Amino acid sequence: MAQQSDLFKKLIAHSKEYGFIFQSSEVYDGLSAVYDYGPYGVELKNNIKEYWWRSMVQMHDNIVGVDAAIFMHPKTWKASGHVDAFNDPLIDNKDSKKRYRADVLIEEHMDKLEAKIQKEVDKAAKRFGEKFDEAVFRSTNERVLRYQEEHGRIRERLAQAMTAGDLAELKQIIEDLEIADPESGSRNWTEVRQFNLMFSTQLGNIAGEDGKLYLRPETAQGIFVNFLNVQKTTRQKIPFGIAQIGKAFRNEITARQFIFRMREFEQMEMQFFIRPGEQKKWYEYWKEARMKWHRALGTPQEKLRFHDHDNLAHYADAAVDIQFDFPFGFKELEGIHSRTDFDLGNHQELSGKKIQYFDPELEESYVPYVVETSIGCDRMFLALMSHALVEEEVPGSPGNTRELLKLHPALAPIKCAILPLKRNEERLVDMAKGIFNDLRFSFQVQYDDTGSIGKLYRRQDAIGTPFCVTVDFESLDDNTVTLRDRDSLAQERVPIAKLEEIIRKRVDMKQLLV
Ligand code: ATP
Repeated sequence: MAQQSDLFKKLIAHSKEYGFIFQSSEVYDGLSAVYDYGPYGVELKNNIKEYWWRSMVQMHDNIVGVDAAIFMHPKTWKASGHVDAFNDPLIDNKDSKKRYRADVLIEEHMDKLEAKIQKEVDKAAKRFGEKFDEAVFRSTNERVLRYQEEHGRIRERLAQAMTAGDLAELKQIIEDLEIADPESGSRNWTEVRQFNLMFSTQLGNIAGEDGKLYLRPETAQGIFVNFLNVQKTTRQKIPFGIAQIGKAFRNEITARQFIFRMREFEQMEMQFFIRPGEQKKWYEYWKEARMKWHRALGTPQEKLRFHDHDNLAHYADAAVDIQFDFPFGFKELEGIHSRTDFDLGNHQELSGKKIQYFDPELEESYVPYVVETSIGCDRMFLALMSHALVEEEVPGSPGNTRELLKLHPALAPIKCAILPLKRNEERLVDMAKGIFNDLRFSFQVQYDDTGSIGKLYRRQDAIGTPFCVTVDFESLDDNTVTLRDRDSLAQERVPIAKLEEIIRKRVDMKQLLV
């Protein structure tokens, strides 16, 4: 655990030091849970979005995109249920004046139980060595069974309270478990009350409630209200999907953990419209497809898992999270939700306009059902960074370590750095700049001559550049350069004329889109 939190601190510091992520409005000491992406951050984020967009829209004949406005008619949020039901249970600590999500406090208590179980498992694994059978140990060890039983009991109570919206019960759980304020240790809690997560603002020309607008808390509604526009203009037949990438805003109560939980963030959502009754099939389909998307990046399976929802959101009849093993444990990275006809049906009712699809095969009209895939771009960014950032011994140089961002080459912010061996050797500089000016038409490349070659390599390793090209005296004679591989440190001599082709093959996003 301690090791993990060190990794997390390192990741936050690294993100700032190398221009990936800055705290918003830092000169004013920052704005909590709002972040800005720096020069390398924006490149990586754009690449994540491109990977998602291409695999969704470009690779599917039956998925098209939209880019809807952030502001929507206020009735949208009534129909979607967000005005009445998009709440989190809030609890204040009377002594510290800190505010928490009651369910998160309870979940964190459950995380501690899981950590205790893991500690027992690790201890036993060490003791028994190769003979250790984890499954048998988990199902027979008394202490582990006790923790598991307690965990199960709390989980069930929490799920029931959340589903029923029973705020008094949530408070009771916190009291029964003697949960204290993580910062001050105080157990002096207020009652639990509901807190709506939507930010609101006001239209200029209409006073009062009528002019109240919300900043969208999810991008999905911009897709639903455009369902007919898109279906008619693209002549798509069900099943088909609409994809969108865009900002969403939530007034989160506990907004810690860096870019994991932000108040302004970006979502990549796809709503897949289907025949009523076919939701189970498509739900399973998208579950698998989305897991495959994550795995294509080389993320090991043990870092990813499915987690079924205990308490469903107001719009869903089935929901599963793809969780990632973040430095602070397994948490939601993406949600796959079977949303039934909840949204389109409600928009139809509240707008008074027919929102239906005529199915030529069935020869009938219906309100389509929906299976949604919804992933936070920022959480994906955090997942990638936390997996990619490693400190390792330099291959072939015992005792020497380097900081390395092992991002997939197709997502790396800079694909190749062009470095002259000596910065005060005009001929090398000219040649290196020539190569740089050539390659920049094809990729995001960087020219750098601001330090010794060793220093320049280390800097490129730290920002995840998969390739470095070094121009040396031999290059002047035979028009070849050294191409250095970030991970293996292998160096190969390649003709300058072949550089573009070689790099293209290795950084091409195509390899991810299988
Ligand atoms: P959580 O339980 O963590 O609050 P959620 O279940 O409310 O998340 P969804 O409404 O399913 O999240 O949103 C879909 C995706 O949007 C999430 O899987 C996550 O990646 C992302 N997301 C949601 N809230 C935030 C946030 N505050 N900051 C960053 N990303 C977010």
